[in-house]
Amino acid sequence: MSRIGLFGGTFDPPHVAHVALARAALEALQLDAVRWIPAGQPWQKTRKVTPAAQREAMVRLAIDGEPRFALDRIEIERDGPSYTLDTVRAFAAAQPHAQWFLIIGADQYAGLHTWRDWQALLGLVTLAVANRPGLMPPIDPEVLRFPHRVVPLPMLDISATEIRDRVARGLPVDSMVPPAVARYIDLNQLYRD
Ligand code: ATP
Repeated sequence: MSRIGLFGGTFDPPHVAHVALARAALEALQLDAVRWIPAGQPWQKTRKVTPAAQREAMVRLAIDGEPRFALDRIEIERDGPSYTLDTVRAFAAAQPHAQWFLIIGADQYAGLHTWRDWQALLGLVTLAVANRPGLMPPIDPEVLRFPHRVVPLPMLDISATEIRDRVARGLPVDSMVPPAVARYIDLNQLYRD
């Protein structure tokens, strides 16, 4: 039975903590694959998001070299907001014998009870949760009733928000994104304004 990690995000841009988290999940949960799933229309983000084609291109660069990483366009191709439950249902229908792990950081875990149909979602996946620095609200007691696996990850104080802010202020981000992503941001003049 395949063990597959699902790793969704806005990835605007993908950064080194994303890569570290996906790698840690591969190892710790003995996954056969991690599917990176850039959100089409991230319904919880209110700011203007970089076009999906560019976020997809950056994820391809970030995952290059690890054969167990793959990019999945399912949420980019689907119209309307990106709900994780729809995505997981589609995967489970296509591969009914696989075991699914939903890889998330602590900030997403703390907000999970706001996701659409989260109880149904947690019936289909095992949560795989990693540390993330920052103040988080306590985990909703209903969410805590579902078992979760811990992905061992050192605290990595990196966010896409900080990277966008730094680029806008003309500061380097080389230690925060894979080199190919840094080049892409530069060449395409992302996050400048
Ligand atoms: P933004 O700052 O734009 O909100 P982000 O850095 O949180 O972006 P996302 O693409 O929204 O990046 O995150 C995708 C997934 O990766 C989420 O589950 C998030 O919790 C996790 N993640 C992102 N950064 C980290 C980090 N530094 N440590 C642990 N998990 C992280």
